[in-house]
Amino acid sequence: MLAYLDHHATTPCDPAVVEAMAPWWTEQFANPASRNYQPGLLAAAAVQNARSQIVADLGVQPESVIFTSGATEANNLALKGLAEAEIESGGQRRHLVTLATEHRAVLDPLRYLARHGFELTELAVLPNGLINLEELAAALRPDTLLVSVMAANNEIGVLQPMAEIAALCHQAESSHQKTIHLHCDGAQAVGHIPLQPADLGVDLLSISGHKLYGPKGIGALVVKPGIRLAAQLHGGGQEQGVRAGSLPVPLIVGLAKALQLALADQQLRSERLGELRDQLWRQLEPLGDLKLNGDLAARLPHNLNLTVGGVDGARLHQLLRRKIAVSSGSACSQGSPSHVLAALGRSRQEAGASIRFGLGRHTTAAEISCAAVAVAEAIRSLR
Ligand SMILES: *Cc1c(COP(=O)(O)O)cnc(C)c1O
Repeated sequence: MLAYLDHHATTPCDPAVVEAMAPWWTEQFANPASRNYQPGLLAAAAVQNARSQIVADLGVQPESVIFTSGATEANNLALKGLAEAEIESGGQRRHLVTLATEHRAVLDPLRYLARHGFELTELAVLPNGLINLEELAAALRPDTLLVSVMAANNEIGVLQPMAEIAALCHQAESSHQKTIHLHCDGAQAVGHIPLQPADLGVDLLSISGHKLYGPKGIGALVVKPGIRLAAQLHGGGQEQGVRAGSLPVPLIVGLAKALQLALADQQLRSERLGELRDQLWRQLEPLGDLKLNGDLAARLPHNLNLTVGGVDGARLHQLLRRKIAVSSGSACSQGSPSHVLAALGRSRQEAGASIRFGLGRHTTAAEISCAAVAVAEAIRSLR
């Protein structure tokens, strides 16, 4: 069997999540906005319960959670919603700040805004993939409207220091007397590392169901109360008028259940997968001419990303394909070389000859041993 080591691309939906969703597709199919009869009220209560649980799990206020179709939509709502709200309120701030290594679901909406009257600063990262806090401090200006930095990188797994980033934003705020909104794409972090947005000073947090053993097609934007967003989907006025559309009750129930389960085994899972990841690295390191991409300490425990020297990337992945499911970059990059690895100074050739391992809840020690053997064999045969 193919060992699935691509959990940054997606995770399997937990059977308990599938079970929790089941009745809401069939018997209990009513629209939660239909308040005239019992089934509609029951659906509304299910949404309410899911919302309360997510709110409790993340330590935020009930009005903070806006359900979306995933982290992509949550990012678009946060970034374009803030930008358009600034325009609508007559505000003059047009400067946006992000990192060169962000997910395309952050970079693309920001670049879109940069084509529509905003100015975007894309900060380079340090060679270990972490933000340069001095460069961030220097980039903040009186007209900076928002800063967007992901908590955990989907390719190299590095964890950005969100609390320090928030502190710099607040420092700049007090000298410029304007609120700089801090958005965080938490798709790879929530359910994997402890993350409470309010404690960290994060104003907007994007999450995704299918990255935490929940269903695809659901996510949420968690927004600090009082922040105004311009609607990105206009229609029936659901989700405080910011995101119209009938609520997908089964998916919402599934997201809440998945988050609950992910938090329940988070610590043990992290410890176990961290050991397996370290074992994989120890077994591969002696092959020599390997570059570790991203800081090893400030990193998701279930991530490893290596650039293999002296081999052709296409042939390497061709050999690996039969034994393990891994990737050379993001699942969303459509074959173009990884912009994240490029930001670390890797060449096009090096980026192609890179392997991203993403371990998950069901990864076994046997799978890791097989993966290590498969990678070692492939590298030896190509060198
Ligand atoms: C997967 C991912 C997304 C996109 O999430 P969807 O729910 O699939 O839209 C955004 N950002 C990061 C960091 C991701 O890993």
